[in-house]
Amino acid sequence: MTNKDELLRQIPQVEKMMQNEQIVKCDIYRHEMIEAVRDVLTDLRENIKAEEIDKIPDNDEIAQSVVDLATKRSHKNIRRVINGTGVIIHSNLGRASLSKAAAEAVVEEVASYCTLEYDVEKGKRGDRTACVEKYLKDLTGCEAALIVNNNAAAVLLILSAIASGGNVIVSRGELVEIGGGFRVPDIISLCGCSLREVGTTNKTRISDYEAAIDEDTKAILKVHSSNYKIVGFTQSATISELSTFGKSKNIPVIEDIGSGALVDVRRYGINSEPFAAESLKNGADIVSFSGDKLLGGIQCGIILGDKNSIHVIKKHPLYRALRVDKVTVAILEATLRVYADPQAAQREIPVLSMLALSEDVLFARAEKLCNEIRQSGGAAEVESTKSVAGGGAVPGLELNSYAIAPVSSKSAKKIDHHLRQQHIPVIGHIVNDKLLLDVRTIFEEDYEYLVNAVVRVTEETK
Ligand SMILES: *Cc1c(COP(=O)(O)O)cnc(C)c1O
Repeated sequence: MTNKDELLRQIPQVEKMMQNEQIVKCDIYRHEMIEAVRDVLTDLRENIKAEEIDKIPDNDEIAQSVVDLATKRSHKNIRRVINGTGVIIHSNLGRASLSKAAAEAVVEEVASYCTLEYDVEKGKRGDRTACVEKYLKDLTGCEAALIVNNNAAAVLLILSAIASGGNVIVSRGELVEIGGGFRVPDIISLCGCSLREVGTTNKTRISDYEAAIDEDTKAILKVHSSNYKIVGFTQSATISELSTFGKSKNIPVIEDIGSGALVDVRRYGINSEPFAAESLKNGADIVSFSGDKLLGGIQCGIILGDKNSIHVIKKHPLYRALRVDKVTVAILEATLRVYADPQAAQREIPVLSMLALSEDVLFARAEKLCNEIRQSGGAAEVESTKSVAGGGAVPGLELNSYAIAPVSSKSAKKIDHHLRQQHIPVIGHIVNDKLLLDVRTIFEEDYEYLVNAVVRVTEETK
């Protein structure tokens, strides 16, 4: 018998490995464990055949490889990460982070049975979104509100309910595409409406809308250009002008404001974002926006308007298909509740508190982190950087910020790779061959983990 055959014969049985103490102790589903054992043994077999090894590792060593493989595979697909990109509303990282109160609402109120559609006082069926509607009325002055899956669904539902079979007038400067294939012209035709484009890319006047109106016009739609900016000679009809005009012709004016800030974000240097209360005050009949952009809550689409319009929209069959679940309602309620106190909102809603951080505070945090990294045997330095709002909101806005840059003989790409492989992946971005971790978007409770991760990565070179 050749040495190869002898080695192959020595490979332990799967069942035998499953009884190994390390494997028995490992808290992973049995079927996942068996799969890992099979894969490790297959690798071993291949290595013997390729004459890459001349000795079988002992069973404990094999078991360790099995446990490592199974543990790596058992990571959930959706995992918490540390966001060092400086992009506050990061579309690939789940957009807005939730406030503590919102996260608690999931664990404490809705994980089990809950009062989603139940009125405890009356002991009868209740309304799914009545609680959030009340907060939205107080915060924006709307008469009525409705919540759906996301803002794309909100626009789809509004147009289907209000304008199906007729024309919808939109300015050529507002025929936007939002990330993920949401194109205004496509949505309009999907809703059974005909698009009436008016004006030009950079200039649209109220007279353009007047010229386009006819007996088939069912709505005027204004869309916020969330993810691009037209600069130079531009003109567009304001929502007040449109609403005066719409009222004179008895045509509803719908505004998709995109991000849906509930507080005046001009205080953070953001001048381009309409906020919900203002849009209504200026006369929009129906307003829609996202729940997880500048609002800082959960993915959903919020529709505000007069009682009659909201009633019509709610009665449309599509509403049933687009309505939100209990987790969304609970998180939105907890988020809106904080907004009743604007100072609490700035403190507790991560999107707002990140926007509000001053350069001094950011510098101090970056310096503190670097010192801790150095004291623990790692290496990093403070770098100045720019944060952005992200999420297709506020194009062109750059906020001065500070980052920590791990220092090592490894390339920035390597450091980036290592940090992403940590148990809690740390995501940064590379600028001029340096990996930067912007402190604006990193939560203070993650500092200890981050310091240790950077130390592990920068220490290895020594
Ligand atoms: C982001 C955005 C949408 C889509 O909102 P989702 O909540 O992502 O579905 C629609 N319209 C505008 C103007 C937007 O900015």
